[in-house]
Amino acid sequence: MTQLAIGAHVDQTDPIAEARARNAPLVQFFLGDPQGYQGPEFAYAGGAEGLKADAEAAGIDLYVHAPYIVNVATTNNRIRIPSRKLLQQHVDAAASIGAKGLIVHGGHVNKADDPAKGFDNWRKAIEATDLKLPLLIENTAGGDHAMTRYLDRIEGVWAAISGTEQADLVGFCLDTCHAHAGGNALETVVEDVRRITGRIDLVHCNDSRDEFDSGADRHANFGAGKIDPDLLASVVRDAGAPVVCETPGPADAHVADFAWLRERL
Ligand SMILES: [Zn+2]
Repeated sequence: MTQLAIGAHVDQTDPIAEARARNAPLVQFFLGDPQGYQGPEFAYAGGAEGLKADAEAAGIDLYVHAPYIVNVATTNNRIRIPSRKLLQQHVDAAASIGAKGLIVHGGHVNKADDPAKGFDNWRKAIEATDLKLPLLIENTAGGDHAMTRYLDRIEGVWAAISGTEQADLVGFCLDTCHAHAGGNALETVVEDVRRITGRIDLVHCNDSRDEFDSGADRHANFGAGKIDPDLLASVVRDAGAPVVCETPGPADAHVADFAWLRERL
C-alpha cells in the first residue's frame, strides 16, 4: 500500500472546498485566465492571504498552473517578453498563497528556428526570474518544435538551465497523457526523464483519448482512454511524486479516478 498524495485540477474560486469535496490532500488550479496575458487574479473570497491561511489550516497543498500561453522559449519577442513577465507575476502570486510549485509548459520555437535558441531562451528566463517557489516544467504532447515533447529537447532545456544559480528551484512535472500522445514510451519514461533532470516533482496523471504519438492533448478519465491501465499506474508508482489528476470532473468523477488509481498502485 502506497500513500502517494493524490489530488486534482480544480476550479480556482474555492480550492479548499474543492479539495474537501474530493477528500484530497492537494489541488491544482489557475490564478486568473489560463489563456490571457492580463496577469494573475485571486478568485478566492479571502484573497491570497486568506487562501494561504485556510490551506495551511486544512492541511491542503496548493499547486498553481501557469497560463497555457506562457512561452519563454520562443524567438518571437512579442510573445517571449510578455511570457517572462507573466511567469514572474505567477511566481509571485503562487508564492503569496504558499503554493508548493508553479507548473509551466515547456513552450516551443518557430519552425525555422534552431531548437538551441529555445534552450538558451529557457536559460535566460530562469536567470531573469526571481523564483520564490519551485518552478515545475511540464512535458507537452504536440508539435515538432516543442521544447519538452521529446527527450532530446528536454535534455537541451536541462543542459541550458542546469548552470544557472536557481537551478535547484527548477523541477519537472511529468504528464502521462502528454508523454503517451507525445510519443514517449511509458514503460521507460520515468527512468528516461530522471536520467536527464534528476527529479520528478509532480505527476499529472491523465488517460489519453488519443493514440500513442498522435500529438493530441485530450485528457480522459482513467480506463476511458488509450493508455494501458497497468502502465499508467506504473508511471505513478515509479515516479513516487504527488499526483494531480487533470481528468474531466466533477468531484465524483475525480474521486472515482483516485480510487481506480489507488487500486492499481
Ligand atoms: Zn498536465
